[in-house]
Amino acid sequence: MIELFHLRKEYDNVLAVDDLDLTIPQGEIYGLIGPNGAGKTTTIRMTCGLLAPTMGRALVAGVDVAREPEKAQQHIGYLSDFFAVYEDLKVWEYLDYFAHAYKMPESDIPARVTEVIAQVNLDVKRDAMIRGLSRGMKQRLGIARALIHRPKVLLLDEPASGLDPKARLELRNLLLSLRDQGATILISSHILTELEGFCTSIGIMERGRMVRSGRISEVTAAESPTRLVRLSWSGDSLAVVQEQLRREPRISEAKLTDSGGAFGFAGPEEDLAPVLAGLIAAGVRVTSFREMKQTVEELYMKLSTHEVM
Ligand code: ATP
Repeated sequence: MIELFHLRKEYDNVLAVDDLDLTIPQGEIYGLIGPNGAGKTTTIRMTCGLLAPTMGRALVAGVDVAREPEKAQQHIGYLSDFFAVYEDLKVWEYLDYFAHAYKMPESDIPARVTEVIAQVNLDVKRDAMIRGLSRGMKQRLGIARALIHRPKVLLLDEPASGLDPKARLELRNLLLSLRDQGATILISSHILTELEGFCTSIGIMERGRMVRSGRISEVTAAESPTRLVRLSWSGDSLAVVQEQLRREPRISEAKLTDSGGAFGFAGPEEDLAPVLAGLIAAGVRVTSFREMKQTVEELYMKLSTHEVM
């Protein structure tokens, strides 16, 4: 649904985006993560056609955004990192205005305005003036505006920045419901925890380059082929545990104390079950046994060490 080919952007002597290739299929929620200045905004602005790339191409729903900008706009809903709303309009008037700007059929507009207002949970504010909305509500209104013309993709640049925890949670719930409805979304953030939990794929950008990209499980698994398993037990079983773990050649680096510890396991997840069964059969009173999955956060911290100024 979104295809970026060798995208590159130079500003004077700054290389903001360097040879970026990216394909985001339909239904994917792709989180673009990177520190300030990594090139996320530049990438998103080139994807929606607001910024001409120095080199490369961006296609949305098969349409080249630079060659056929008007056609591409019909497929794109874009929310920039800093967007202005018309404070002196009512919520419904604002959306009605944009529905007309997108040249939606007149007869379709009132129902569509009502529909998106419900979608972003602003029903009670339908007739309220925008100036009286909270920041989180304005952000949701911005998303409603981006959705009004039923675009095939949503491009959201740092939508959670500046929101308080409650508003972030509401935004998260909204994005989850859009995900469930099959939306294709490219969303950026420099705070990874904002994206974890609802993104299906992630890309980690640094200094204009994509350093990792793919499904969350693939990106984290590629980084660490050995599983880390933590376990604990009650009673005096250290020697028995050591003996059991030694029997499995795929176990390495066991670090154990009297009541628990961790080990590395270079095998598939399902092969951990016999390891646990062996411990129990040997009389160890296992109180916990769990693979510690590397979180995207840990991976991000490992990969992304430089703040770009
Ligand atoms: P942030 O999280 O701070 O929004 P970002 O990842 O979105 O950062 P960009 O805004 O795309 O990063 O900026 C990438 C690089 O391009 C930075 O070094 C920035 O200073 C530079 N840059 C961005 N816009 C311009 C511009 N109009 N003129 C010159 N340099 C620019």
